[in-house]
Order: sequence, then C-alpha cells, then structure tokens
Amino acid sequence: MLKIMTPGPVQVPEKVRLARSKPTTNPDLDLSFYDFYKTLCERIGNLVKQTSNYETLILSGEGILGLEAACVSLIEPGDRVLVLDNGIFGKGFEDFVKMYGGEAVLFSSDYKKGIDADLLKAYLDKDSNFKCATLVHCDTPTGVLNDIAKISAILKSYNILTICDSVSCSFGEHIDLTEESIDILCMASQKVVSAPPGLTILTVSNTAVETMIKRKTPISSYYLSILTYKGYYEKKWFPYTMPISDIYGLEAAIEIIEEDSSIITRHRNIANATRAAITASGLSLYLENDYSSTVTVINVPQGLTASQITTYMKDNYAILIAGCFDFLSEKVIRIGHMGENANAADVEETLTALDKTFYNLGVSLNCKLSEYFKAEFSKANKS
Ligand SMILES: *Cc1c(COP(=O)(O)O)cnc(C)c1O
Repeated sequence: MLKIMTPGPVQVPEKVRLARSKPTTNPDLDLSFYDFYKTLCERIGNLVKQTSNYETLILSGEGILGLEAACVSLIEPGDRVLVLDNGIFGKGFEDFVKMYGGEAVLFSSDYKKGIDADLLKAYLDKDSNFKCATLVHCDTPTGVLNDIAKISAILKSYNILTICDSVSCSFGEHIDLTEESIDILCMASQKVVSAPPGLTILTVSNTAVETMIKRKTPISSYYLSILTYKGYYEKKWFPYTMPISDIYGLEAAIEIIEEDSSIITRHRNIANATRAAITASGLSLYLENDYSSTVTVINVPQGLTASQITTYMKDNYAILIAGCFDFLSEKVIRIGHMGENANAADVEETLTALDKTFYNLGVSLNCKLSEYFKAEFSKANKS
C-alpha cells in the first residue's frame, strides 16, 4: 500500500476508518443526531477557543466548499473585497470574489514570506473601504505561514471582516479566536484532522451572520449558504441530509486531537528537524521564512523535475510525496507532515527513500537526510 506523505489528504488512522463503518441512523429524523452534531461542532469550536460570539458548523463537501460558502454568503455584487495574496490559494480567492459579483482588490506581496503587517497597515491607511478581506493561514503550495492574529487585528481596526482559510494548518498551528479577529474560519477534514476528504468545517462569528442577514440581495446559492444553517438545532432541520458516516469519522479524528496535548509542539519539532536536514544536505527550501509546521517545500535540484522525484519515490519505495501546480509546477517537491503524517517514523522513512531517490537520480547530498532528521528531532525532544 502507498504511504501518503502529501500535504493533504493525509493518512487516516484506523480509529477514524472504523468509526466511519458504524451503523447509521437517519440524520434528519432521528433527533439524537442533532445533539451529536451540535456537540461535535462545539468540541471543534473549543479546539480553536471559540467564544459565545461564534458558532461552528460542519458542511458536506471538501475544503474548497467552505471557502466558496464564506464568499457567497458574505459578498454581494459591488462589494469591495481585499484579497491578501502571498500564495496560490491567497490569489485564488480572487476568482470566488469575482464569481459572486464582488470587486476583488489584490494586496500582493512576496510569495517567499508571510504578509508584512506594517505594509498592510500602510496600505489600509490610504484605502480601507472594504467589506471583508480574505486571508490564508498556511498557503500549502509554498507552505508559507501568515500571522493571522496580527493581520486580522489590523483588518478589524479598519472595520473589515476576515475570511481565513486555515484548511491546511488548523490544529497543527496555534489558533485562538480569543486572540484573533476572524469572522469566518475555514477548516476541513483531510489535512491535520486526518479524516478522508469530504467535510468542511466553518467557525462563523455573529458579526458575519448579522452581515449576511442585512444583505440587500439574497445569497445566490442554497447549498453554499451559511444562513440556511441558522437555527438548525432549534428547528431540528438541516438544509440537506448530513453525511453521517463522514461525521462519525470526523468525531473520532477530533477525539484524537483533543487527547493529544502536544500536537502543536510535535508538528513544530517535526517541521524544524525536516528543514534542518534539507538545509544541511545542500538542498534548498522554497521559502525564506515564515514556515508552516505542516508542510515542507523543497526546491527541485537543477537538471531534475518534480515528477522524476515523486514517481521514483512512488514506484520504488511506495511513498507518495507531492509536486506542485501553477507556477511551481515541476519546480518543488512537498512533504506533508501534518496530522497522522506528523510522526518521526514516517518522516524518517520518507527521508530515507528520498536519500536513495536522490542518489539514484545522480544528486549527491552533503549528508543523509534521514540521519540528520533523526538526530535533530531527538535533540528537540530532549530539550
Ligand atoms: C487543501 C486546501 C484547501 C482545500 O482544497 P483542495 O481541493 O483539497 O486542494 C483549501 N485551502 C488550502 C490552503 C488547502 O491547503
């Protein structure tokens, strides 16, 4: 079987797979399901420290659905939306904004580092007439991590609502809604959460809901409308039949996260040791700084393509790592060490295979990635 060390979807633990095979009930008509769903939403909300100003919802559909639901629900034709663009997903929000009639204004910055809060502030001092802004926590194609606490606080000080895509780092990086001013936090099942793709999780502020209620034009979607969930528990009514087995799996995955008090430290230690090994070997990282702990993005050495490396890894060692797309197509390879993948044994096995792959493709490294990683990781665990 192929070991998937990609930046999502990731490996799914047995506990999650078994939970997905539990007998099911009718989630519309068996009222106990409403309690189950609501409790699970609250447990997820607690993991991101939601206050009474927030409600968490689980929607049927892959992570992209959440980004689109946030955009269609908040944005009206003519609304100006600030698209914070320092990565492929960051820029991608432009499409959703335009699709729903908004005017997308890009604040673009260097893709090799996090958004500079001072530059953003200077920009907003000149023009801050935006209904909302879109922000990506970890832009997975490059792995850049944005300081969502700092940025969302600045946006809030200009009365701008924040949609934040934290699909690829929620629970692997710190999120605390008592410290951040996020209005719609987008998460999903298949990254750090380590359940299969299929669910979107949104934590939505009351301010965002009130803004949706006050719209002049109706939300031009049913399935994607966040407002259709309003009062679902009291009404005992879901907008559509909930994917119950997916949600059983999600509950098991959330339980694993709740019980793992060192999840963020572990992600950090794995990521630090991986980057240290890459650098020591003479390979180079795509980013200059602001690395997410969930993914490592490595420049492909001259003379090779990403596909050559990933195919060799897959065919010879049964380990799947990722290349990339868009302007990074064939230029970088990516190791996803998030959630179930964020353990030293799997990363070491991946780096061992990468050592052999580079050797066989004619690239000589200054050291063995796997050995360097192992030494660095055990150092971090001792301190
Ligand atoms: C994975 C991911 C999504 C969800 O989209 P996919 O279809 O799984 O690629 C959204 N945003 C980010 C930043 C992601 O990493």
